[in-house]
Amino acid sequence: MRQKKTPSPEVGSSGEATGLLWVDSHCHLDDQAFAADLAEVIERARSAGVQTMICPGTSAASSQAVVKLAQSWPGLYAGVGIHPNAAFEASPLDWEQICLLARQPGVVAIGETGLDRYRDFTPLETQMEFLDRHVRLAQELELPVILHCRDAEEELLTALHEAAERGPVRGVWHAFSADLEAAYEAAELGLYISFAGSATYTNKKFEPLREAVVCTPDDRLLLETDSPYLVPEPLRGKQERNEPAHVLLVAQRVAELREQSLDHLAAIMRANAQRLFDRLGSP
Ligand SMILES: [Zn+2]
Repeated sequence: MRQKKTPSPEVGSSGEATGLLWVDSHCHLDDQAFAADLAEVIERARSAGVQTMICPGTSAASSQAVVKLAQSWPGLYAGVGIHPNAAFEASPLDWEQICLLARQPGVVAIGETGLDRYRDFTPLETQMEFLDRHVRLAQELELPVILHCRDAEEELLTALHEAAERGPVRGVWHAFSADLEAAYEAAELGLYISFAGSATYTNKKFEPLREAVVCTPDDRLLLETDSPYLVPEPLRGKQERNEPAHVLLVAQRVAELREQSLDHLAAIMRANAQRLFDRLGSP
C-alpha cells in the first residue's frame, strides 16, 4: 500500500504531491533509463499528481514501444515519429511503420520531429524532409505534432509557415529554449510552447528563455520533463535521471516566474493539454 499524501500548496525539493493534477507533456518512458523500474517511476508520478504522461517516439522501434506503453498503462499516451537526430538511419520501411502506428489507439500526436543544428547527426536537408513528412501526416490525421528545435528556430518557423498554407498546423514546441520573439511567432502560428527543466536553470544564458516563460499566453503554455533528460533545479547535478514526478519542480519555477498560483497553472495545463491533444482519454 502506498502512503496517501495530504494535499499541500507547497512543492517539496523533490517534487512532492501538491494535491493538484498535472500533465507531463513530454517524457521518454521507453528509454533504457527506465527499463529496470518503470512501474515505480509511474507510481511516483501518480502519487505526485502527474496523471497524464505523453511519450513521444524517436524512431520506428521507439514509436512501437511507446504505443505499447500507452496501451498498457492508463494515463500514458504516445506520439509516433522519427527524431531529427535519428532520421539519418531511418529506412523507408521505418516511415511506413510510423504511418501505420499513427492510427493505433493511444496515439495522440505525431512526433517527435523537428530540426537540430546543434547535433548534426542528420544532414539538415534530410531533417527538413522528415519534418515535412511528419507535419503532412499530422495534418492528414488531424493530430498535433511534437516539435524539437535546437539552433534552427528560423528554419523551423519558415517550414511551419509553409505548412500552414496547406491547412492548420497544430502542435507543441517542446523543451522550448529560444527567445520571446520565437515564442510569439510560434504562438501566432497556432503552436503551444512547452517548458522543461531548462526553465528552472538560473544561469544568465537562460535569461531569454525566462522571458519567454513569463510572456507565453496562458492558453499556449505546457510543461514537461523531457525525462530522462533535463533534470530541473534543485536536483540538477545531483541526479542523473529525470522522471515525470519532477514536472512539479518545473511547475513551481514557472509559477514563480509568471507570478501565478500553482492551482491556476495546473488548471490551465490540463485545459491546454486536453485542447491540443484532443484524443487524450479516448480509448
Ligand atoms: Zn524528446
